[in-house]
Amino acid sequence: MTFEDIKEGLKKISKLMNLNEKEINILLKFKRIAKKELEINGKTYDAWRIVHNDSIGPGKGGIRFHPAVSEDEVKSLSFWMTVKTSLVGLPFGGAKGGVKINPKELNKEEIEKVSRAYIKTFNEFIGEDKDIPAPDVYTNSQIMGWMLDEFEKIKGRHEPGTITGKPVELGGSILREKATSEGGRIILNLFLERMNKKPRETRVVIQGFGNAGMNIAKMLHDEGYNIIGVSDSKGGIINKSGLDIEKMIKIKKEKDSVIYYPDIGKIYNKELLELETDVLVLAALENQITEKNADRVKAKYILEIANGPITSGGDDILCKKGIIVIPDILANAGGVVTSYCEWVNNITGGIFSKEVMEGILKEKMTTAFRRTYELYEEQKTKTFTMRNAAYIIAIKRILGAEKARGSI
Ligand code: NAD
Repeated sequence: MTFEDIKEGLKKISKLMNLNEKEINILLKFKRIAKKELEINGKTYDAWRIVHNDSIGPGKGGIRFHPAVSEDEVKSLSFWMTVKTSLVGLPFGGAKGGVKINPKELNKEEIEKVSRAYIKTFNEFIGEDKDIPAPDVYTNSQIMGWMLDEFEKIKGRHEPGTITGKPVELGGSILREKATSEGGRIILNLFLERMNKKPRETRVVIQGFGNAGMNIAKMLHDEGYNIIGVSDSKGGIINKSGLDIEKMIKIKKEKDSVIYYPDIGKIYNKELLELETDVLVLAALENQITEKNADRVKAKYILEIANGPITSGGDDILCKKGIIVIPDILANAGGVVTSYCEWVNNITGGIFSKEVMEGILKEKMTTAFRRTYELYEEQKTKTFTMRNAAYIIAIKRILGAEKARGSI
């Protein structure tokens, strides 16, 4: 999704909220766009660190290593972080970073060089009370470990709260890896309770079987949901009477794709999105449901674990069809809530236990869900979506902070 699409979406929300021009402009403004070139082994790579809005607190958002990274993409992702952290009531703003590079073509030493070069280049812009990076697509806890090490060497002091998603040995959280999926599970359960549907009567199809998709598949399977289809970049697998998820995870880990699951129907990725199911979980990439295929989607409900998996045109069609979408800024916020707990532990010397962090995740997700769902129900018209409700709540809080600062 481009930042132009975000602007269009914001126009619709601002009409619903009766926002004035000054308020709209403040939401479209970026606090800082830093673009630099990283030089590694004689080659140069474009890199960004962007803070969208930090009126509520320091910027928060991941760093992505991907060949398709662009300034427009990092801007969009940082905007989504602002609304996400606001919706779930965290003391953060929104930020994002990226390097335009294909990490699959690099060995471990080269990836470490890129990670350290990123911090050498951008260290003046980040910090525990300024802008706090974390992992994103194709970056992980090891990369965060190298980045923190480089940052602390440059600054000559310890400051673990500068980066979240770190290895546990450096102050990372043991909950982080499964936190996004756990947050998604909590939200789906709360939503289905409102729909009077029990896990055992609920069929689920999951697009994407990476960190988020695989973990949520396991959690939902353990709760009795009937997972009838999964897919990864190589293709999909279906079995209407239910898949054995433990076996699927084993196959994915051994052979690197779900398509090697034996004796079961194989299907193309695009067909998986069109299966008859109660819940479709989107846990792969952006722009999966668009104006081109939304009409063929037969799921009753969609849980967006990926960021921006449905385009704004796709969203309008799903809404007309009566398909309820649980939006990304709510459904995948579990990761950043757990990052918040990691940051608090780092800046206070470790006051939260695992149990306390689990409690905070549950409380933040439950409150954000309740507020979003209640506004959605209250406003329910044929064109008002849960996404509209989530954005309205998030934007009110951001504008409240801007007003309190006297910026508007
Ligand atoms: P990942 O790289 O571990 O997994 C992505 C999965 O999607 C892989 O299994 C890949 O094979 C699959 N995939 C790629 N193209 C596909 C296609 N066309 N059809 C079906 N499957 C396809 O990434 P992840 O960490 O699981 O993240 C998935 C999504 O969730 C991303 O959009 C990410 O931004 C979002 N997200 C993740 C987290 C997190 O904590 N992991 C937090 C917030 C949002």
